[in-house]
Amino acid sequence: MDDLYPTVAKMLHEARHAIALTGAGISTESGIPDFRSAEGMWQQVNPMEVASMATFLSDPQRFWEFHRPRITMLEATQPNPGHDALAELERRGVIRAVVTQNIDRLHRRAGSREVIEVHGSLERGVCLRCDARVTLDELVERADAADDGVPRCDGCGFALKSGVVLFGEAMPAEATTRAWEHAQQADLVLVVGSSLAVGPVNQIPEIVRSGGGTVVILTEGDTPYDDVCDVRLRGRAGHDLPAIVAALDALEAAGS
Ligand code: NAD
Repeated sequence: MDDLYPTVAKMLHEARHAIALTGAGISTESGIPDFRSAEGMWQQVNPMEVASMATFLSDPQRFWEFHRPRITMLEATQPNPGHDALAELERRGVIRAVVTQNIDRLHRRAGSREVIEVHGSLERGVCLRCDARVTLDELVERADAADDGVPRCDGCGFALKSGVVLFGEAMPAEATTRAWEHAQQADLVLVVGSSLAVGPVNQIPEIVRSGGGTVVILTEGDTPYDDVCDVRLRGRAGHDLPAIVAALDALEAAGS
């Protein structure tokens, strides 16, 4: 596999508009379980049930019982060398954007700037009735102060929802538009740590491919694109992404 790092580095070096598309797998080395691995969250709970719009609306207490400890867990994590490597690639102008399915904010904390959070973010809370917004700190304070653990809107009293997109909820329009604009311009997509099982984001590799672009996949588990992508790496993101940056250093030092 080592010989694939220079190959990917050369592809990135030559790309005009490279983007990264990341999923839960880039954050497992920061201690956040993904959904579909053997140790993934899906083995303990069914996220489609607890993290769904239907549960939030019908039983906000159950939703917050699951979500509140998850905020504490996510807030205690740190970016890992995989996040750092993508931030470094952006600083060097090698990639233009990180489109992420993750809500953990670790890309921003690692220093990535053009981060498109297509499944929302922990960053804020929102009232679905009157559209009020609160910060994560306010959301947590209100949840912890409430007898039933449900944070409520100051204005209308409705249960506040976290800024994370729930199953059964529409994707945020602005982020989706930006992600699609990047996908249409991209001549390379580097998929990291995603099973590409969740739509519509999983269409991005096909958008890039059908525009004549290159698809590189770095994910331990299988994806539907494994037979058609240009390069398939099956290592760990925290190892392979820094290795690709090192291969890029070597390429640039050789003056090519
Ligand atoms: P997924 O769980 O479906 O797939 C993750 C993939 O990453 C798997 O194929 C797994 O084998 C691979 N993987 C695990 N650790 C890896 C590593 N260190 N290096 C490389 N590959 C690794 O995740 P998904 O495709 O992102 O879809 C799940 C949905 O769950 C997304 O919508 C996402 O929003 C959400 N989610 C987010 C987080 C987070 O914010 N960190 C965590 C769990 C789930």
